[in-house]
Amino acid sequence: MEEEYRYTEIEEKWKSKWEELGLNKAVDFSEKPKFYLLVMFPYPSGSGLHVGHCRNYIPADVVARFKRMKGFNVLHPIGYDAFGLPAENYAIENGVHPKMSTERNIATFGRQLKNIGLSYDWDREFATSEPSYYRWTEWFFEFLYKRGLAYEDKSFQWWCPHCKTVLANEQIIDGKCWRCDTPVEKKELKEWFFRITTYADKLVEGLDRIDWPDRIKSMQANWVGKSEGAELAFKGIGNDGNMYDIPVYTKRIDTIFGVTFLVIAPEYPLLSSLTTDENKEKVAQYVEEALRKIDIDRLSTEKEKTGIFLGTYAVNPLNGERVPIFVGDYVVYSYGTGVVMGVPAHDERDFVFARKYGLPIRVVVSPDGKDFEINEAYVDDGVLINSAEFSGLPSAEARKNLNKVIEEKGIGRSTVRYKMRDWIISRQRYWGAPIPVIHCPQHGAVLVPEDELPVLLPDEVDFTPRDTGESPLANDKEFVNTNCPIDSKPASRETDTQDGFACSSWYYLRYADPKNDTVPFDRKKIDYWLPVDLYIGGAEHAVMHLLYSRFYTKAMYDAGLIGFDEPFKKLLNQGMILGADHQKMSKSKGNTVNPDEMIKTYGADTLRTYILFIGPLESDAVWSIDGINGSFRFVKRIWNLFTDVSKLPVNRLMEEEREVELITDKYIQRITNQLENFKFNTMISSFMEWLNYLYKISQDKPDIMKTKAFRESSETFVKMIAPATPFLAEEIWHRFGYNESVHQSEWPAPKGIYKVEKTIIVVELNGKVKDKIEVPLDSVEEEVKEAVLQSKAISKLNIDFSKVNFIYVKNKLLNIVVKK
Ligand SMILES: [Zn+2]
Ligand SMILES: [Zn+2]
Repeated sequence: MEEEYRYTEIEEKWKSKWEELGLNKAVDFSEKPKFYLLVMFPYPSGSGLHVGHCRNYIPADVVARFKRMKGFNVLHPIGYDAFGLPAENYAIENGVHPKMSTERNIATFGRQLKNIGLSYDWDREFATSEPSYYRWTEWFFEFLYKRGLAYEDKSFQWWCPHCKTVLANEQIIDGKCWRCDTPVEKKELKEWFFRITTYADKLVEGLDRIDWPDRIKSMQANWVGKSEGAELAFKGIGNDGNMYDIPVYTKRIDTIFGVTFLVIAPEYPLLSSLTTDENKEKVAQYVEEALRKIDIDRLSTEKEKTGIFLGTYAVNPLNGERVPIFVGDYVVYSYGTGVVMGVPAHDERDFVFARKYGLPIRVVVSPDGKDFEINEAYVDDGVLINSAEFSGLPSAEARKNLNKVIEEKGIGRSTVRYKMRDWIISRQRYWGAPIPVIHCPQHGAVLVPEDELPVLLPDEVDFTPRDTGESPLANDKEFVNTNCPIDSKPASRETDTQDGFACSSWYYLRYADPKNDTVPFDRKKIDYWLPVDLYIGGAEHAVMHLLYSRFYTKAMYDAGLIGFDEPFKKLLNQGMILGADHQKMSKSKGNTVNPDEMIKTYGADTLRTYILFIGPLESDAVWSIDGINGSFRFVKRIWNLFTDVSKLPVNRLMEEEREVELITDKYIQRITNQLENFKFNTMISSFMEWLNYLYKISQDKPDIMKTKAFRESSETFVKMIAPATPFLAEEIWHRFGYNESVHQSEWPAPKGIYKVEKTIIVVELNGKVKDKIEVPLDSVEEEVKEAVLQSKAISKLNIDFSKVNFIYVKNKLLNIVVKK
């Protein structure tokens, strides 16, 4: 007689029991080996948790539970990345204070996370907007400042004159404000910067020592963008007859004899000195338009390259030749020196520019050392020609020699450059961690004394945006007016707040010691828990958050605050969940899935199973109703079989027991292996197979259910699926007669009686045999595909795996079929 699966009742019951038991507490300094498993903490938005969060948090929870059963002392914490622009915009539009809306949203998130059965240590929860946390975010600002890693400087920012606000690049659409369609302007503002460039080399070098996806590592290396080149000064002849140094950076000094013009950025400080009176008006107009375009558009290779001749010339320091100076918006001031030496024969952009303005094109590098007719830029290395005494040298050697010559002559030097800029930390915003600085008319910027931290965000703030581009905090005279810490004379507080990425750059340390109110963390606890063993989160943070965190860690390491210089040993990126229409989920498309509703309809264990089963962790996956229904049926089958088994006596001996034992051993080995390798979807497949087996044999020979082997297999199954379906497993476990929690039981060890049998799979491409590979018998399609991707014979074929279908015949064949 089947018993109804009352998931809501079961889940509510165990949720509160587990809380009483304190099952998920991480114990400081326990003798057990530690395992620190971190997930990227959520921004507590008003729309609550979505299934994208589930894709990150559910697999992570499975690992945390698995590790606990394996005997690890697991730190699995959660908190909230709570400062940010949306809460402030919401306040402007609806008059709800960000503190209120954030608190409300955090309550919703907490309830949802608990409903899903995520096993966090809730005692360590915090939000970055709490004064007890941002006090230390401010402290870290001071820490970096004292180490010469924070400074104030002017920079150009996008500005909407209608909204009276600074805009980020992504808030500008076709040169207009995303909110009101007003054309944006550039405004020069004073900003605080973190000197992340100091760590450029270390940020690249450290990538070799961490187990991260290659894609993320190469994105970080590209972001840092290390390149070796030379800097040398051209002499500009100014409008006033004076000579001005115009430093030029180039990776291709071997093309120096091919320079036929210079182009300077519209922001270039010497621009007006280098412009003749008759060209001033034209140039000014061009510059104004150029400054309105965003950098990405200016640098785009598709865009037409434009420029204006300034009327003046510069002298090539190597051959004394005079070349015309242009201003052009394809040169960006923040990159290099803000000047490009135009070598049209050997640079595509310069070639287009030269053709457009009728400038000479001179070939100085050739593939074979012979002069040739040029129809497009020749950008490769080669042999130098038309280059005085350097003619005949290969490019690399010429670069070396030329670097030596410019250094000897004192006109330049070889340099290493980085694409990465210093990190602008200032935000002209209210809802962020204050920058703990006081501006004194006499002493300039002075740090707020450490014992006066935190600088509290005032609650009563007029959010009206200001003409000046300052933060709404500038409206609050009580906040602004203060005294200089040095001479106690009237001074004013910094009103900018810190970028939200400052808050998330050190949060993983705080979990080790979240309640400390004398230091940001106790070194002993850090030494015990850190670094993070496994970090799971979205690839959208490939450069910003993950790079900034590494920068903070390295600065702390150099200061002796911590004993490691890479914060996250292993990183996994989960894929996205797309809507049933294969589109990115969004409210406007109406294709979102609400986890609350799923839990109501199917229970949390089904939601968890489906999220694990939906596809390999790293790949995007498409949500489907059929899929979650399938998971629901599977979960109910677990319930039905094992509640039946729990009611039966164990009093039979049967020959078939040996087979059941072997099968049990097989799945212990297989599932443990899948979990250790984060193959959650194939793990669920293995459970399905195992369950099918138990159903089949119990139908064929009903008495088998009363044997010791069957009972043991059932209990092992329930124990092993506990990390995936914690509520269901706990309920059945107790029906088996156990009193302690299944989550406190030990992960089963294989007896080793099942020897993994191997089989040969034939791999075909469009029906033609390409390779034969050995895999464990009964491998599922995903496992075979993985083995195939490792095959050298297959990788030689350069197959685009995004454009193929697979036909798999178990234990025999995998045919890769290229889609037509
Ligand atoms: Zn606007
Ligand atoms: Zn002072």
